[in-house]
Amino acid sequence: MSHSCIVGGGITGLAAAWDLTQAGFSVTVLEREDSLGGLAASFDAGGYALERFYHHWFTSDTHIIGLIEELGLGERLVSRESRTGMYYANTLFRLSNPLDLLRFTPLPFVDRLRLGLLVPVARSVRDWRRLEGVTARDWLVRTCGENVYRVVWEPLLRGKFGDVADEISAVWLWNKLCLRGGSRAKSGAEVLLYFDGGFGALVDGIRDALVARGVEIRTGDGARALEVRDGAAVAVLAESGRIPCDNVLVTTPLPIAADLLGDHLDEAEAARLRRIRYLANICLVLELRESLSELYWINVNDPSFPFVGVIEHTNFEPVGSYGGRHIVYLSRYLPQNDATYHLSDEEYLAYALGFLRRMFPAFRDDAIIASHVWRADYAQPIVERDYSALVPPMHTSLRNVVVSSMAQIYPEDRGTNYAVRGGREAAALVAELP
Ligand SMILES: Cc1cc2nc3c(=O)[nH]c(=O)nc-3n(C[C@H](O)[C@H](O)[C@H](O)COP(=O)(O)OP(=O)(O)OC[C@H]3O[C@@H](n4cnc5c(N)ncnc54)[C@H](O)[C@@H]3O)c2cc1C
Repeated sequence: MSHSCIVGGGITGLAAAWDLTQAGFSVTVLEREDSLGGLAASFDAGGYALERFYHHWFTSDTHIIGLIEELGLGERLVSRESRTGMYYANTLFRLSNPLDLLRFTPLPFVDRLRLGLLVPVARSVRDWRRLEGVTARDWLVRTCGENVYRVVWEPLLRGKFGDVADEISAVWLWNKLCLRGGSRAKSGAEVLLYFDGGFGALVDGIRDALVARGVEIRTGDGARALEVRDGAAVAVLAESGRIPCDNVLVTTPLPIAADLLGDHLDEAEAARLRRIRYLANICLVLELRESLSELYWINVNDPSFPFVGVIEHTNFEPVGSYGGRHIVYLSRYLPQNDATYHLSDEEYLAYALGFLRRMFPAFRDDAIIASHVWRADYAQPIVERDYSALVPPMHTSLRNVVVSSMAQIYPEDRGTNYAVRGGREAAALVAELP
C-alpha cells in the first residue's frame, strides 16, 4: 500500500487525507501544533469550544457542505440570517438588507443606488481575467464613483490590507462581492451557515472519521525537511524522527513550504514559492457578560480604528451555546513586522479596549469575563494584480511532492470551502502520480 505523508493538519490537509484514505493509500498527517484545524482551529474557553478566529460559511460553499454530508454530519449544519452593519462617523448603521442600504444617510441617495448596484455589476462579470490588471480601487471608483469609494470601500480595503490596499486586485473584490451577494434569502438578507458545536466540533468529526479509517495523525509534530533521492521525496524528517513515504503533500503556507522544499528545487521554483506576500492577523476574543450591539458583523469604516471588523459571534450562534457568555472578536490584519503584532496579550488587550470604549461608550471593563489573543503569521495572501502569474502549480518539480495551500485557490479567496476543494484536488493529483 502506498504511503502518503501530509504536512499540515488544517482543513486542506484533512480533506486530502479523507480522499487519499478512500483511494486506498495509507496516510500520516503531521501537524506541528497540538491540535488540528489550522486557521479554523478552536480552543477551550472554560468548557466551551470557540474558534480562534471567527468563522462561518456562505450558502454557496458547496465543497465543504459536500464533505460534511459525506461524513454523515449534514444534520449539524445550521443556517441563519445574519445582521451586518457599519461603524462610520461615530455611528452604527445597520446594513443587512437592501432597505437598510436605501436608508444609509452618509451617502447621498444616488450614491446609495450606485453602492447597491455593485453586487449585480460584479455578478454580471463573465470573465474575471479581464479584471486581472485592474486594482480594486480603480474598479470601484469607475463602478460606483469616488464618493462611494471614499466612504465605504477605501476604509474597508485599508482596514484589511493596510499599506498595500492600493495594490489589491479587482479580482479579489469581485470574488468577495459575488460570494456574499450569492448567500442571500429572498428578502435580500444575508444567510450564513455554521456547524452545531462550532468549527472545532467539525474538525473533531473529521479527525474521528480519519482515525476510523486508519489514518495516523501526529499532532505536536512539525515537519523540518524532506529527504530527497533522485528527484523524489523518500521521507519526511519530522521533529519526532524520519517518516518514510511514497509521496508528500505539503499544505502549509507557501513560505513554510519553501523552507521545507527549497534546498531541493532550482532557484526560480523556490523563489516562486516565496513570491506571494501574506498579512498576519491578530484577533482578540472577548467573553462578555453583556452584548455590545444587535449586530453580528460590524465593518469598521473609521480610518482611525485599527480593526477591520467587530464580530459579535453570539448575535449569530445563540448565547446559550456558551453558557450565557457573549463572544466578540476584534480582528486586525497587519504585516508580521508591525510592532502591534508583537505586543504582549495584556498590552494588546489594553490597546484594543481603548478603541472599543470609543465605539461603545456604554461598555464597561467589568463586563469582561475573559479575553484571549490569537495570532496567525500567514492569515491572508496579498492578492495583487495579475496574481494568476504568481500562483505556483500544485505539482512541484519533485516527482512525488504536491503543494496545496490557500494562496493557490485563486481566483477564489481563502476560506475553508476552498481548502476542501484544494485538498481534494491535491489528493487527486497524488493518487495519479506514477
Ligand atoms: C481571521 C480569519 C477569519 C476567517 N474566517 C473564515 C470564515 O468565516 N469562513 C471560512 O470558511 N474561512 C475563514 N477563514 C479562512 C480559513 O480559516 C482558511 O482558509 C482555512 O482554514 C485554510 O486551511 P488550510 O489547511 O489551507 O491552511 P491552514 O489552516 O493555515 O493550515 C496549515 C497547517 O499547517 C500547519 N503547519 C505549518 N507548518 C508546519 C510544519 N512544518 N509541519 C507540520 N504542520 C505545519 C499549521 O500549523 C496549520 O495547521 C478565516 C481566516 C482568518 C485568518
